[in-house]
Amino acid sequence: MQLVFATNNKNKIKEVQTLIPKDIQLLSLKDIGCFEEVPETQNTIEGNAIQKAEYIKTHYGYDCFADDTGLEVDALNGAPGVFSARYAGEQRSAIDNTNKLLNELKNKPNRNARFKTVMALQFDNKQYTFSGICKGEITSEKHGKKGFGYDPVFKPEGEKLTFAQMDLQHKNRIGHRGKAVVKLVDFLNELSKKNI
Ligand code: IMP
Repeated sequence: MQLVFATNNKNKIKEVQTLIPKDIQLLSLKDIGCFEEVPETQNTIEGNAIQKAEYIKTHYGYDCFADDTGLEVDALNGAPGVFSARYAGEQRSAIDNTNKLLNELKNKPNRNARFKTVMALQFDNKQYTFSGICKGEITSEKHGKKGFGYDPVFKPEGEKLTFAQMDLQHKNRIGHRGKAVVKLVDFLNELSKKNI
C-alpha cells in the first residue's frame, strides 16, 4: 500500500518512516509531482492539518496524511502555537524563530511549553485526525545539533537532553509526532485487519 505524507520536510519523513509498517510505502509531495506550496491558512493546528490533507486529495487524487505542529509556551499565552513556522517572520527560519523565542523568554521564570501535532488522514473518502502532545520546557540556550526547528531549545519533561541532543528513536518514542503517528498506524492496522 502506498500513502502520501503531505510534506517535503526530510526530517519529518525520516521520523515517520521509521514508525510506519514496512508494507506501507511512504510517498512525499515531490514523489507525486507536487512542487507548489500547499496552503495552510487556518487558525488552528488541526485546521491546517486537515486543510493540507484535503488539498492533496482534491488536487492530486491521493489518499494521504498531513501533519501540523505547534509549540505552545505558557508564559507567552500559548504562542507561537499555530504561527510556529513564521514566528519571526515570513522567511520561516528555524534560527530566527528560536532566537526570537529565547529573547521573548529572557528573565521569564516559567519555561513550561508543549509541542502539539495533529495528523489528518484522508482515506477512502473519509477523514480522521490523531494528535500527540509532548510536554517540556524551553531551555535558556540552544543545545544539540540534531533534529530541526525548535528542537535545540526544547527539553521534554523528565529528560536531561533537548530533542536536538537525542537520537531519532529517542525523540520518536517520547515526542509529539511519534505519539500521533503511533495512533495513525494502529488505525491503519485495524483497517487492514478488517480488509477495508
Ligand atoms: P509545521 O508542522 O511544519 O507547520 O511546523 C510548524 C513549526 O514548528 C515549524 O517552525 C517547524 O520547524 C516547527 N516544528 C515542527 N515539528 C517540530 C519538531 O518536532 N521539533 C521542533 N520544531 C518543530
